[in-house]
Amino acid sequence: KLNEHIVTLQGNIRVFCRLRPLSKKEEEEVENDPEAPSMEKSIQHLDDGKMLFHGAMYEYDHVFTPNTNQSEVFNEVQSAVSSSMEGYRVCIFAYGQTGSGKTHTMEGPRRDRGVNFRALEEMFEIAKSDNVKTYTFRVSVLEVYNETVCDLLTQGKAGEGTDLAIRMRKDQVFVEGLTECEVESTDDVEELMQLASSNRSTASNNVNEHSSRSHLVLSVKVGGTNKSNGTVINGKLNLIDLAGSERLKNTSASGQRLKEAQNINKSLSALGDVVNALGKEKAGHVPYRNSKLTFLLQDSLRSSAKVLMFVNINPAPKSAGESICSLNFAARCR
Ligand code: ADP
Ligand code: MG
Repeated sequence: KLNEHIVTLQGNIRVFCRLRPLSKKEEEEVENDPEAPSMEKSIQHLDDGKMLFHGAMYEYDHVFTPNTNQSEVFNEVQSAVSSSMEGYRVCIFAYGQTGSGKTHTMEGPRRDRGVNFRALEEMFEIAKSDNVKTYTFRVSVLEVYNETVCDLLTQGKAGEGTDLAIRMRKDQVFVEGLTECEVESTDDVEELMQLASSNRSTASNNVNEHSSRSHLVLSVKVGGTNKSNGTVINGKLNLIDLAGSERLKNTSASGQRLKEAQNINKSLSALGDVVNALGKEKAGHVPYRNSKLTFLLQDSLRSSAKVLMFVNINPAPKSAGESICSLNFAARCR
């Protein structure tokens, strides 16, 4: 029994690195800077999963180069997505500094959707082609900002659904008062995402800044019933666009900005600690209580769960310092 446990543990954490392409402006900056190290020399992709980055070697389950498209990225996470329909708890995270491509990876632009939409699309497909099981999908979208949980699917007035309490009920996390919406099609999903983003923008005066300082969690509760033998399935897929991992540059920051930075730092390192504890052969104490995010996801961050992490990297030379921090975080998770 113990051996089985160990096998599950090690197999269920996967870490991917995704390098985004340089923008036109960044490309010009590199071209016009005689001091900038050559990109070909500073970032080299070696064998499957290995990468030489500014003189240090890193190894991940896979490295996606700037040429990798959304569908190729989704292919790598597809099996984890479908296992949520077999009753697994699954978490897919995007980690990285602001501007590294987290939102592109998870949400993606309208014409080139990312993991969130592709995942739900895939789940609807599987449900449709299954003649034995019937499925229901219930979606919630929330934000963790400054260690408070805010519902992004409320239809109510501004201020409603903020600072929700997280409780445990028989090994399952329950967010008090959180809106859950049943979805049946990708159109339903689009509609909910629209609502979430409009709720997010009414609640803040600078959406971009705000979104880079909060974690966005899209959860899909999967309910399945086997019509022939009556067995039920309870799976869960959590898709998380994390707050920007960059360190506070202005050391004299104070007030709200300092508090935000400290909370982000605390929650990202708590996440690293939890994933690291799960990856150990003998998962001892797993410190879920150190942040709202890990407390919220604790029923999906178990040794029996599947955890996937994208580490998004902006390959521009001026971001190398932050990129190395992100790559190190990821290496610790694996
Ligand atoms: P983050 O969410 O980490 O702050 P974004 O996802 O908003 O970063 O990405 C920053 C910018 O880079 C955006 O303009 C986005 O469209 C672009 N971008 C990111 N990843 C890619 C990619 N793989 N291919 C093309 N453009 C990308
Ligand atoms: Mg973003």
